[in-house]
Amino acid sequence: MNYRHGYHAGNFADVVKHVALVAVLRHLRKKDTAFSVIDTHAGRGLYDLRDAASIATGEAQRGIARLDDLMEMPAAPPVLSAYLDLVAECGRQRYPGSPLIAAKMLRPQDRLTAIEKHAEEVAILKDVLAPFRNAVAEHADGYARLTKLLPPPSRRGLVLVDPPFEAADEFETLAQTLTAAIRKFATGIYLAWYPVKSQGAADAFIGETLAAGIAKALTVEIAVAPPSDRMTCAGILVVNPPYGFAAEMQAAAELLVPRLGGQGSADINVTWRAGSE
Ligand code: SAM
Repeated sequence: MNYRHGYHAGNFADVVKHVALVAVLRHLRKKDTAFSVIDTHAGRGLYDLRDAASIATGEAQRGIARLDDLMEMPAAPPVLSAYLDLVAECGRQRYPGSPLIAAKMLRPQDRLTAIEKHAEEVAILKDVLAPFRNAVAEHADGYARLTKLLPPPSRRGLVLVDPPFEAADEFETLAQTLTAAIRKFATGIYLAWYPVKSQGAADAFIGETLAAGIAKALTVEIAVAPPSDRMTCAGILVVNPPYGFAAEMQAAAELLVPRLGGQGSADINVTWRAGSE
């Protein structure tokens, strides 16, 4: 448990993951019926970009800081504007993590369960979520806890699984957990983050997960060419993407790609892996 997200908060992969998160939550908010969000690897919820960890890597400077001009763009795609507004609400030097973004998008009837295993991170997360009456932070193993929370009482919702990928068998654990979760809550929307150090390993993970009999799934993968970052490619597997999600991510990608690439280059690919719209 050496991983601390403070080194990476606001980097290119966080930006794409959080835009996808906002896109799904905007979709869930279209109906009045309550929804539940389960964030299995939540982190601390709010990151100070002036902290030594963030300054040491400079990842936020090559991520969220490159989107400054979009904050002022009146015709930006609604999903990007909604994401950037949420970031701006936290103040210029701070960046929201997934549980804070989700908490801010809940309506009174909705629920968030944010799980975090690291004692220091979860203590901060509890403070960050304290103002939100329908959000709870749990100190637990997100993988073990997830299946116990499914299906949510609302029978509508999103599961975000965003592991640190410290363990050698993390892909396997992730695929097995997703398979078990989907068995219990087949209509849920799932966002699962993964690194792409080898496309073969990433594709094997996706294949194993989809073998659970999933009808609709896509991936959003972002690659950033050096000199921009050490970690250059990451993806999100989206199971049961809402209608219109792929097009929204494409539209956002057109504005994100030239900015996140900086002096190098970047690419965002939205690819159907099972079914289509
Ligand atoms: N989802 C967060 C966001 O987007 O802001 C970032 C999460 S970070 C990539 C992964 C987090 O998982 C770390 O805070 C780490 O302490 C935590 N963690 C590691 N193993 C865990 C486990 N088995 N269960 C729950 N949390 C875990």
